[in-house]
Amino acid sequence: MKLHVVAFGCQMSSADAGELAAPLLAQGFRAASEPEDADAIILNTCTVRQHAEDRALSLIGRLKPWKDQDDGRVLIVAGCAAQRLGDWIRERFPHVDMVVGAKSIDEYPRLLGDALAGKLGALAGAGGSAAPAGADAAVCAPVTVMRGCNYSCSYCIVPSVRGREVYRPWETVLAQARVKAAAGAREILLLGQTVNSWRGPGPGGKPAKFSDLLRAVSGVEGVRRVRFESPHPRFFDDELIAAMGEVAGAGDHAHLPAQSGSDRVLALMRRNYGGEGFLALASRLRAALPRVELSTDIIVGFPTETDEDFRRTLDLVERLRPAWTYAFKYSPREGTESARALPDDVPEAVKEERLARLNALCDRFAEDALKARVGRTLEVLDENGGYGRTRDGFRVRWTGPARPGELVSVLATGIAKRTLLGECR
Ligand code: SF4
Repeated sequence: MKLHVVAFGCQMSSADAGELAAPLLAQGFRAASEPEDADAIILNTCTVRQHAEDRALSLIGRLKPWKDQDDGRVLIVAGCAAQRLGDWIRERFPHVDMVVGAKSIDEYPRLLGDALAGKLGALAGAGGSAAPAGADAAVCAPVTVMRGCNYSCSYCIVPSVRGREVYRPWETVLAQARVKAAAGAREILLLGQTVNSWRGPGPGGKPAKFSDLLRAVSGVEGVRRVRFESPHPRFFDDELIAAMGEVAGAGDHAHLPAQSGSDRVLALMRRNYGGEGFLALASRLRAALPRVELSTDIIVGFPTETDEDFRRTLDLVERLRPAWTYAFKYSPREGTESARALPDDVPEAVKEERLARLNALCDRFAEDALKARVGRTLEVLDENGGYGRTRDGFRVRWTGPARPGELVSVLATGIAKRTLLGECR
């Protein structure tokens, strides 16, 4: 029997989808690349943007004929939209067998057994053998260390659908890293909404912080690099910066989501920092970690954003010089403070124009960063036979020997869009 998995949205959604799939893989399911070939489908939804939610709901509707062909098939809908719209999904799409909200993911294996034991048992009995847990691990494997968020950025729906921060125990994180490394992972991506806020009892029950966890994961046998996403600027303390300097990958790239360069807009966003404080953090990171590349997120057209506010954002980006940037136009999200309390008063044409200007600036920094690597020999982790990434996260495609899972030396000879081209040494 076969399982098809679809994840909408961010890397955490993809990582969660992997965790949702694990109990079924352990029952003997094999991966199906197309939904038509599957006996079970897991759809992990996202609700951060309306567009992602709409796409997930549309797919649920389009899966009805697949389900009607054989009522023994299983459709599981999980994730953030499932949390936000659970009852509505059950009512609107009765062909869905199970709805699992994002807050319930840790209870999911038990819920799965309670709700679908008979049906899944019948499918599993249809022929298949249990796969070892983690056998599907890629060269770069995610490990979720925390879920939820204690902040209340006014545009963000995550705290209301995911709840407050919950930290995975030290041993659980390390056990997952060991399983994935044993299955072939060489880079571990630690994930969480505010990943560097992780804290909890460490070895011997002593209080531990994210910096301790980062070092411990980097010491797992087989692990060559550790990265983390998405950090909150507030939790880059001296201990974390020191640990980043000791861990390959972690000290080479840091994602610092700025969102705006205007203190007035940052206050409306409830980001808990101002533009100068943010840039001071970037300077601290660059001073302590000379090889670090920075990336950022920016929202343009936030309610009441003036030309002057936007000019300050461009100024912040000029001074930050990010190697890459995720830039978005603001759109109100139902259920958030900004949608409730602030007017969406920046005209669409102005948002478009600001986004285009911002992207032009960011493209220049991205191109500069790529060009600076051409002619250099780079350490690349081969993720997929001739394709991989540098320590600081640049994509590389090369000719010459492919050695998945190994660190290779690649002479960068050119650029194709945002990917470096090269020759393996
Ligand atoms: S820190 Fe802000 S943007 Fe990030 S998940 Fe929390 S509320 Fe959302």
